[in-house]
Amino acid sequence: MAATAQLERTEDGWTGVQPDAAWREEVRRLADKHDAVLLAHNYQLPEIQDIADHTGDSLALSRIAASSSASTIVFCGVHFMAETAKILSPDKRVLIPDARAGCSLADSITGAQLREWKAQHPGAVVVSYVNTTAEVKAETDICCTSSNAVDVVASIPADREVLFCPDQFLGAHVRRETGRDNVHVWAGECHVHAGINGPELADRAAANPDADLFIHPECGCATSALYLAGEGAVPAEKVKILSTGDMLTAARSTNARSVLVATEVGML
Ligand code: SF4
Repeated sequence: MAATAQLERTEDGWTGVQPDAAWREEVRRLADKHDAVLLAHNYQLPEIQDIADHTGDSLALSRIAASSSASTIVFCGVHFMAETAKILSPDKRVLIPDARAGCSLADSITGAQLREWKAQHPGAVVVSYVNTTAEVKAETDICCTSSNAVDVVASIPADREVLFCPDQFLGAHVRRETGRDNVHVWAGECHVHAGINGPELADRAAANPDADLFIHPECGCATSALYLAGEGAVPAEKVKILSTGDMLTAARSTNARSVLVATEVGML
């Protein structure tokens, strides 16, 4: 689309020209003209979420896209999300507004690297997180989300080796929860969530003793926080593992005076 919102993120917040009414009308006009459904990940700028037809996590959005009657999907997210939408909707045209939008977690393993890893562990079952490229998914036996990763690995016969990629935090969580020592974990990480460390989470929780801590299990992006909660870095009774929808519901209904959300800022 020709019109774009000229917004950039800085350490102090968002700068640039806020999208005006004319911009919003132009986006909607183009969407109608091209029979497009606009999907915005929860991590997008609020302005982009406001104009989208649907917001949510990547898998939920891909499922919405597959059930949509629109012939074109505009996926305001990163590459692997648009690829996932295309996998679920092979007959639809999928557009990504910013071709530079990548995911450091998905980029931490390539198809060639996975093939080499498999060759070193013949017979192993490959379990990949949804934050992977289509090429990696094609080399995968089971694609999991963070909410079902433990169950998926537990369902694999105990004598089979498991190759889990690409998220080392989720992999460590799975190893701990299943008690299996034959789960090999790829050392990938997301640069955003790798920056959420135990001391910082513990400090924030200590500074806000009445606050709930919301962690999203499925967005693909909060797994380091999930791991830290399991390690006891923050009080367990304050930690809520919630889907996007449940996070919004819980924020409305909680008796806590404040809520800490350990993920990308767009979710706020
Ligand atoms: S927050 Fe991290 S895991 Fe999520 S899309 Fe961005 S880089 Fe990937």
